Amino acid sequence: MITGNPSVKNLQQSVSEPRRTTMANSILAAQAVSATGMPLNGSATVTQLPVSLGARSAVVMERKVAHHVPRRSEAPMFVDVARTVLPVEFQGKEVILEAHAYEDESVSYQAMALVHRQEGDKSEAPLVRVHSGCVTGDIFHSLRCDCYQQLQKALERVTTSAHGIIIYLPHHEGRGIGLVNKIKAYAEQDRGLDTVDANLSIGAPVDARDYELAAKILKDLGSTEVRLMTNNPLKVDALRDLGITVVEQVPHVVSPSRFNQRYLATKRERMAHKL
Ligand SMILES: [Zn+2]
Repeated sequence: MITGNPSVKNLQQSVSEPRRTTMANSILAAQAVSATGMPLNGSATVTQLPVSLGARSAVVMERKVAHHVPRRSEAPMFVDVARTVLPVEFQGKEVILEAHAYEDESVSYQAMALVHRQEGDKSEAPLVRVHSGCVTGDIFHSLRCDCYQQLQKALERVTTSAHGIIIYLPHHEGRGIGLVNKIKAYAEQDRGLDTVDANLSIGAPVDARDYELAAKILKDLGSTEVRLMTNNPLKVDALRDLGITVVEQVPHVVSPSRFNQRYLATKRERMAHKL
């Protein structure tokens, strides 16, 4: 845990010295910022933007992102931060999102926040999805869980809202037990156990996720009041305990497949999810 505000010198070193490939520094544009959100002196601030956007529009968008970055009076602390614009294709349309990458504690604790904000939006509480990373679901569209469908639904809602945020947490893989343990637990489920007992049978916690990084990111984005898309009341409680005001829990239910019916039933019956 970082308990002190890293000095600018340390931050500059962290930017200038070679580092392992991380989400924070492999992002298309690496604009180093200090813990207060201001660009660091002498750090690389050249933003490489997609050529197809054109230099002029790219500069305009970069300025918009810079304009939207809140200047915090009470600065959350991260080891490293990077911001850029990220054009994505979604449902046949190009959507321009703000991309904020964060590193907390170590390279194992990184997260991406994608922000959609309409020009001039003044809404206080954005629509927010705090999404746990799932290699099998998010990337390969596994039908054993509902992660892919939930991520797609979140993208649809966020990109059509005036102000929406997706916080993607890769280290939440397998409800925080990691990829290998998740696949071990799947194998236990193949023997007949449900998702709760499968975790316990391999000596893993049922849910090892914490939301401290997500809460810090929301504070960094200036969004301490949110409308949270989730079916999980524990996620609402966790964020509230970390100082985030959840003004509304927005149900985020997707259609079950024949492969995940039991998984969803277990989440409803044994993990208090509102499904
Ligand atoms: Zn999943």
